Amino acid sequence: MSQSAAAHPASLLFDQVRFVLNETSHPGNVGSAARAIKTMGFGRLVLAAPRAGADVLCDPEAVALASGADDVLANAWVVPDLDTALQGVSWAVALSARSREYGPPNAEPRESAAIAVQHAGQGEAVAFVFGSERTGLSNDDVERCNALVHIPANPMYSSLNLSQAVQLIAYEVRMACLARERGEGSQVAAVAALPPGREGAAHDALATRDDVEGMLAHLERALVDLDFLDPENPKKLMTRLRRLFAKSHLEREEVNILRGIAKHVLERRIRR
Ligand code: SAH
Repeated sequence: MSQSAAAHPASLLFDQVRFVLNETSHPGNVGSAARAIKTMGFGRLVLAAPRAGADVLCDPEAVALASGADDVLANAWVVPDLDTALQGVSWAVALSARSREYGPPNAEPRESAAIAVQHAGQGEAVAFVFGSERTGLSNDDVERCNALVHIPANPMYSSLNLSQAVQLIAYEVRMACLARERGEGSQVAAVAALPPGREGAAHDALATRDDVEGMLAHLERALVDLDFLDPENPKKLMTRLRRLFAKSHLEREEVNILRGIAKHVLERRIRR
């Protein structure tokens, strides 16, 4: 995981990027999304709990709209939920037509693409997560990601068709991949860029989202045990901690320290 950027040619960058469609209803959108990502050089489509089930991959409308991207459609991963879709991912971006009161920090589409490619350049898997046609992403889904991106469309009519949102983001990520290939630095604002000195340097592996989710569940049990968190009235404590960790680029070692603290808290109770 400590390879330098040069060790990752563009083709490998493209391989690290997942496009995750959560609970998609319309098979046509799945086919169009496959086409959208293939035109931009990507191939990893992940369908979390598609309404039509795994049959969506051979739905005639999906196949028709995938057009020449039937290979991307046929090779899409169909998984039961968003957590499974994000397994092994260290940086995930939620795409939403709506702003949220809580949740991870906001980023612009271009900025999120540049940050994603920074991570991919370190050999890490990244994901862009899109919601369903009718209801979009739930707050829970959004909180599972490290950044929230809104495509700044017409404020009076800002909800794009799902596959068109995928197309736009895939274009931005392609541009960021090509810029990296040319050795150009991307314009990455401070919101969630890798900390200075981290990129390309030898470092401990960044925690994946599964590591962070496991740690949060452990920490939550410890906080309940300490009476710091009231499960009957949790307020926004875990949401705020999620936001904190979403910004932190935690390394695996740091996640282990936090889990160690939680473990000790819970063991003390058993000893008592
Ligand atoms: N009715 C839904 C919108 C669904 S559009 C809602 O109110 O949230 C389907 C998906 O396309 C969204 O979940 C989001 O992932 C993406 N999308 C559409 N328009 C977008 C925009 N302006 N910015 C970011 N993502 C958008």
